[in-house]
Amino acid sequence: MELLNIKQLDLADKKVFIRCDFNVPMDDFGNISDDRRIRSALATISYCLDQNCAVILASHLGRPDGEVDMKYSLAPVARRLHQLLKKEIIIAADVVGEDAMAKAAALEGSQILLLENIRFEAGETKNNPEFAKKLAGMAEFYINDAFGVSHRAHASVEGITHFYDEKHKAAGYLLQKEIQFFGKLIEHPVRPFAAIVGGSKVSGKLEALINLLPRVDKIFIGGGMAFTFLKQMGYNIGASLVEDDLLEDAQHIMNEAKKLGVKFYLPVDVIAADRFSEDAVSKIVTAQEIPDNWMGLDIGPATVRLYREGLNDVQTVLWNGPMGVYEMEKFARGSSKIAHFVADSYATTVVGGGDTADLVQRIGLDEEMTFISTGGGASLELLEGKILPGVLPLIVKED
Ligand code: AMP
Repeated sequence: MELLNIKQLDLADKKVFIRCDFNVPMDDFGNISDDRRIRSALATISYCLDQNCAVILASHLGRPDGEVDMKYSLAPVARRLHQLLKKEIIIAADVVGEDAMAKAAALEGSQILLLENIRFEAGETKNNPEFAKKLAGMAEFYINDAFGVSHRAHASVEGITHFYDEKHKAAGYLLQKEIQFFGKLIEHPVRPFAAIVGGSKVSGKLEALINLLPRVDKIFIGGGMAFTFLKQMGYNIGASLVEDDLLEDAQHIMNEAKKLGVKFYLPVDVIAADRFSEDAVSKIVTAQEIPDNWMGLDIGPATVRLYREGLNDVQTVLWNGPMGVYEMEKFARGSSKIAHFVADSYATTVVGGGDTADLVQRIGLDEEMTFISTGGGASLELLEGKILPGVLPLIVKED
């Protein structure tokens, strides 16, 4: 799949609208706790500045649900951009209101304007064509560099593309890199290829699991989603997270794995707790013997050893979803041990965004991984074999 390339556009001295994904995590004091997504956008922004473009940046932050809520203002992002680019960042007080429109119209070559949180406008998530048209009216060129949101048909991601022809829109460097990386990973992985899949629910990853099965050699399951499989196997899972309506799907996945010769690993022991709390009483139990009313909140030490053993000969690892409730220190060990093992290996290691990227970063192993995606949901949809709605309009059409 070839995408319209930013380098092919005649951008010199023009006005360009770049949809970025500055949806960064913030701590309780409103400080950015991980600026990976901002740093990842710099290549495209700098390229446009080098072309003396007037650069209009747009992004969402959190879920203000179509209303102005200054808790979700992009002001902290503007400050971080200023630090990183060492350039003045002009901030608009709104998205397509008087202030934004006036500042966009007056913007000159090599200046940067950051619009306020695009989700302050209800038209964004509704993909409202009127709103998309207003956005498109600001600039002659459109660049999508927001991989993390490209699986959403939103106005600044999808709707806006209809107002630009192929000579006036393209994928930015980050979007190109993510799409290329996942494309290669799915089509030509160096084998053995393993997927480590965790997180809370099977439901969110069902399609991805089914799509991964014919592509990988091994799957290692962790996190809350493991218990639906374990229950289906007839184990007593106590009060662990389970999706009873997906037991059949779980069986189907295990059957398919067997049919395809994919090694399907499930936890053999867990850290069980009497409550979902950092202060819970916890103990190591085998996956077959979780006491009633206790819940498995992390993989146990035997599982860590088993998974390490299974991962030993692997050449490519794709990891999406934590092995336990890593946000609580008590239940972070399984994820941390697997992260260290994966990071130390000589395999190509790919982390599928979201929580997994967060946990890898928390333990300081982000530099050790081959690739950390900026999009959890988007990368999962790619693995499901979907063409993302924000990417579709940027695909080069064959003559
Ligand atoms: P997801 O968004 O589906 O990738 O899930 C990530 C979340 O799964 C994290 O917030 C973890 O705390 C949670 N999680 C992982 N393991 C478990 C578990 N055993 N029980 C409940 N939640 C879990």
